[in-house]
Amino acid sequence: MADQKASDVAVARKAARDTGGDGKSEQSPLWIQASAQAFEVFLECVFLELGEVVLKTRPIAFWALALQIADFFGSPFVTNIAKTWLGDRKDFDPMQRLQFAIKYSIAPWIGPAFRCLIYVPLSSFTTEELNDIGFAAYRILAETQSKITDHRTLCALTVPPVEHSQECLNSGHSDQCNKSWAHAWWGEAIKHGIAVALIHPNRIPGRKILSQLPNIITSYHMDSSCRQQTIRLLSGKDGLLLKEEKMISVAVARLELLRPHHI
Ligand SMILES: [Zn+2]
Repeated sequence: MADQKASDVAVARKAARDTGGDGKSEQSPLWIQASAQAFEVFLECVFLELGEVVLKTRPIAFWALALQIADFFGSPFVTNIAKTWLGDRKDFDPMQRLQFAIKYSIAPWIGPAFRCLIYVPLSSFTTEELNDIGFAAYRILAETQSKITDHRTLCALTVPPVEHSQECLNSGHSDQCNKSWAHAWWGEAIKHGIAVALIHPNRIPGRKILSQLPNIITSYHMDSSCRQQTIRLLSGKDGLLLKEEKMISVAVARLELLRPHHI
């Protein structure tokens, strides 16, 4: 770690020398292509002069500068410090997290940021925010949201077929079973069905809807083993409702391939 620090400082000094004087006299100052504030941030991160406890209290704007200048000087040490202290911050806006993730190639931030943004209406983002993440990322976000909406609408309107047990098929009550399942899927009176959850304007995350599936209220007309089998099939890895998760995973993989020049 100490070697890395020394190396980062040496690189910073070289960058300054390459673009200015040698820094040995007033007449030959080092020329650093960064604001004094950004350079102070860099030094604080490199030397940890005020201790790690102070770093914990630094605002998001401090870390934005740290990442920027770490990128400028090519300092993995400072980038890693920023990743450590910014990584779990609850006040780190997901749009900004995605922007930094792409700009500074921080792949582990992409998935969590994207999963927060995927259920936010595009109209609620400002033009500046969309410019910041870049057109390529915006397109992936918009395409994925659109695919999920289409998929959800189709799932909501097309009741998934019941997976009947052998006893149910033999008893000749499978039609009642189907009707009970359809009512439960669509919801009735004050009972909210899965269909309503899928197209609700609040955009309930798919995983949350899936977790509620075992609580779906079916009438006594539905055979309990048919109910269990149907829920199991829908929740399985190839289940209809998990397609949304796959769409998100594909989008995250595409975003991870983006490089800063896409912004
Ligand atoms: Zn049945």
